[in-house]
Amino acid sequence: MGHQASAVTDLHPRLQELQAKLAVSPLTRINDPELTERQLELWIKRDDLLHPIISGNKWRKLKYILNHALHGGADCIVSMGGAYSNHLHALAFTGKALGLKTIGYIRGERPSQLNATLHDLLDWGMELRFVSRGEYRQLRDYHDYDSLPGLQPGQYWLPEGGATDLALQGVAELVDEIEINFDTLAVACGTGTTLAGLLASPLTRLAIGVAALKGGDFLIDDVQQLLNKQGMTSQADWRILVNYHFGGFAKTTPALLAFMQDFQLRHDIELEPVYTGKLLFALYGLIRKGYFPAGQRIVAVHTGGLQGKRN
Ligand SMILES: *Cc1c(COP(=O)(O)O)cnc(C)c1O
Repeated sequence: MGHQASAVTDLHPRLQELQAKLAVSPLTRINDPELTERQLELWIKRDDLLHPIISGNKWRKLKYILNHALHGGADCIVSMGGAYSNHLHALAFTGKALGLKTIGYIRGERPSQLNATLHDLLDWGMELRFVSRGEYRQLRDYHDYDSLPGLQPGQYWLPEGGATDLALQGVAELVDEIEINFDTLAVACGTGTTLAGLLASPLTRLAIGVAALKGGDFLIDDVQQLLNKQGMTSQADWRILVNYHFGGFAKTTPALLAFMQDFQLRHDIELEPVYTGKLLFALYGLIRKGYFPAGQRIVAVHTGGLQGKRN
């Protein structure tokens, strides 16, 4: 864990202070006759329990991005997301806690009734700029922290979903926290940055990403590029499942919702339909197909995102 210790020393004092308020997320074992029968163990790394508000992988990703921004003297983070964005939600809260101004480009017109997510963004002082879908797509072309045209001094650009290679280190720390030996790590993918972060840990040997959106094949290249940018070659054997999107990003089916309800009832772990519901559905699908050899220990990452369900 030497690499981690030195990174923590470099952490900006304001981030250290915020981090001290976060829990170490627990690891919960899923007890299920179906698993016992197949001699499999399924554990869930409960990043949904990191903090009452900044849940999940978004903190992990933001940590070293914001460290870079703070050390570079930034006083404002500019980013983008949909009206239910977990990324903007975590950014607005974190920005406020760190004394950073935040600006969010939101896809689509300003709704006459703001949903719970947008309400929170405003409450935490984020400046909202609603842009057309076309403009929003263009914003996706800017990948570097200083690449957005018109950026003012002190402003730091953060692409959609916090998808930069600086995000990887914070996610990799999650793997170091898992206190059991495990075989496969599994996570839902939007941009694939969280999966890339898991792969950046030398402890990861097998990993599965479940694409939450349709046509997720591009994620393989994106994950590889993120690793390359950090000069990393993963030793892991990893794949991305692209057939568990249920019609596309944020789309659901009755089968998905029924699965989630059943899972929640039996295990008392709340899921949401955009990411974690699809992840667990896919894992149970693989388990039933006999994909995992007997004796495997699978750790699924609960990336949080429950705030998006309030809307
Ligand atoms: C954003 C998000 C993801 C996807 O993370 P990526 O790093 O973009 O792949 C997964 N789960 C939840 C709950 C999220 O909010």
